[in-house]
Amino acid sequence: MCGIVGYVGERTACTILLEGLKRLEYRGYDSSGLAILDRGEIQLRRSVGKISNLQGILKKNPLPGQVGVGHTRWATHGIPSEENAHPHRDCTQRIVVVHNGIIENYSQIKSQLSRKGHAFLSQTDTEVIAHLIEEEWRAAGRRLKEKEFFNSVRKALSTLEGAYAVGILSADFPEILVVARKDCPLVLGVGKDGNYIASDIPALLPHTR
Ligand code: GLU
Repeated sequence: MCGIVGYVGERTACTILLEGLKRLEYRGYDSSGLAILDRGEIQLRRSVGKISNLQGILKKNPLPGQVGVGHTRWATHGIPSEENAHPHRDCTQRIVVVHNGIIENYSQIKSQLSRKGHAFLSQTDTEVIAHLIEEEWRAAGRRLKEKEFFNSVRKALSTLEGAYAVGILSADFPEILVVARKDCPLVLGVGKDGNYIASDIPALLPHTR
């Protein structure tokens, strides 16, 4: 179980997320990644190994944007690899999820969703969360109302057995970052220039108390 960070506000998200991930390094990890929402699109950067590897990738291919989530992974399902590194996406690539914890009934959910046509790109338990939200969101008619999206997330999460802290972004709702937790730590930080999430307080201390 490793680290999650997230930011939604007025500053450049990428810098804040990288700094936050570094402050969570002590928790141990095998890979890392982040997703940033900018002008209606979500882009990912992921890497195996040290956060400095991710930093190198971002230096070559920077990500602008003021909303994002980051993750350090300690693999429980699926080898440490770029494809298995978080964030994970749904089929439309408009919903992304970072997750700490273990989804115990993921293989059952994965089979059900595969039968409905969902294509999975990783071996992780986490990826089912993104596809489950997609499925609920589609069932709700994809109406562009925050409340409807929250409800779709709520329904999706109620299907899960296990432990989780999650950060969820949707390209359709560029001003919100949806979070939830069950038996895993997650703290919220309210700042002047934006709001923050993290698995542990040290990641937030430079910005808010
Ligand atoms: N179970 C998830 C995975 O293997 C999350 C692991 C973690 O908490 O870092 O990808």
